[in-house]
Amino acid sequence: MRRPKILILGAGYGGLMTAVRLQKMLGQGEAEITLVNKHNYHYQTTLLHEIAAGTGEEGRICLPIKEVIDVGRIRFIKDTVLEIRAEARQVILCHSGSLSYDYLVVALGFESATFGIPGVAEHALSIRSLNTAKRIRNRLEKQISAYAASGTQGEPFAVVVGGAGFTGIEFMGELAEQVPNWCVQYGLPRQRIRLISVEAGPGLLPGFPSVLSEYARKSLERRGVEFCFHTRIRAVDARGVLIEGQDGEKRIEPATVVWTGGVQGNSLVCGSAFPASRGRIPVTPDLRVADYDNVFVIGDCSAVSAPGSDRPFPPTAQMAVLQALSCARNLQTLVRGGKDLEAFAPKLKGAIASLGSHDGVGLIMGIPLRGKMATVVKAIVDSRYLFMLGGLRLVFRKSKLSAGISG
Ligand code: FAD
Repeated sequence: MRRPKILILGAGYGGLMTAVRLQKMLGQGEAEITLVNKHNYHYQTTLLHEIAAGTGEEGRICLPIKEVIDVGRIRFIKDTVLEIRAEARQVILCHSGSLSYDYLVVALGFESATFGIPGVAEHALSIRSLNTAKRIRNRLEKQISAYAASGTQGEPFAVVVGGAGFTGIEFMGELAEQVPNWCVQYGLPRQRIRLISVEAGPGLLPGFPSVLSEYARKSLERRGVEFCFHTRIRAVDARGVLIEGQDGEKRIEPATVVWTGGVQGNSLVCGSAFPASRGRIPVTPDLRVADYDNVFVIGDCSAVSAPGSDRPFPPTAQMAVLQALSCARNLQTLVRGGKDLEAFAPKLKGAIASLGSHDGVGLIMGIPLRGKMATVVKAIVDSRYLFMLGGLRLVFRKSKLSAGISG
């Protein structure tokens, strides 16, 4: 009998965890599993802000995909997906031709949502992948060194971060730690570099209790971060940015803008291969696309709501991993001829935002955390993820906890 073909697109949080689970849950002869990813490594997207600020090491957040998958059980193809032809059950790759499938798992992650703000797509930087994160770090350091070399007359150099959500605040936390180092290195007084967080809403880290977001604001302000709430980025160009707050418009120049103001699912699939709503593909409770009962969409490309609600859960790594576990169980059922798929019912544990390497805020199972304790719990959460992927061996090689233990 022909083995069903399972094709997984993307080896981020959702795709790689689906693959690792399936290799444990299905017998050798039960299915032909293929995983496709742009790169031959997996990176922890949740730590990219450290790479972007130059405080984190690439080696710690990346791991070769072939180290966690069993290549005897899963065929890995390093290639870029160009198109999904859902009617023909075919995926077109950039270099390796096309692949057919019986079951498809789409886990191609996110891209920036720029809301049509002039110049954001062309001139602002965004933290989307390992490569874009490295570009940000290189650009910032180059600009700061050039600014120092120019004699620093006139206005201070500003790093403007658009959006004070999770990504923007975690990135600010790292910048607040790194900029003093760059100032020493290039002989600049710290006051010559401004760190400005611009947020359209009334505060930072929406979704967190106000006592925690206030803690985060004060922690960052103490380290020189300026906040502009109720303020929108109106336009970005090569030299600076135009912002508009309650006092009217203001230009900040010279400035580099890092845009973290919104994400949407990968446009390769969202709104093209499958219909999307607000940039993500609505999925049925068992994580499939309506009218395509052999296609699962998980992670940031998907919009999935709690039973009885029409508000999708926010896209997070935690959500992508939980979806992967549920998707793998549903694929096992289908491959074995079953029909009763489980409805996705995540038990969310909470969230922790880092504010640099020594500070953070979080709410875990209703318990508020701040300071060093938040960073320790965040490291435990990251280690748990590594454990699920590759057992203790991976935890010892990659996690911050093991770095702490080994000094
Ligand atoms: P990803 O993990 O982004 O994986 C997508 C994969 O698809 C990547 O490997 C990519 O290379 C690959 N890919 C993309 N396009 C193609 C293509 N055309 N062909 C082949 N491969 C392709 N969430 C949390 O829960 N907690 C946090 O603390 C947190 N912090 C964050 C900090 C930052 C700086 C950022 C940017 C995000 C953070 N998030 C956090 C959100 C979280 O990272 C995402 O929700 C999560 O990565 C989504 O997982 P995914 O599998 O959908 O996509």
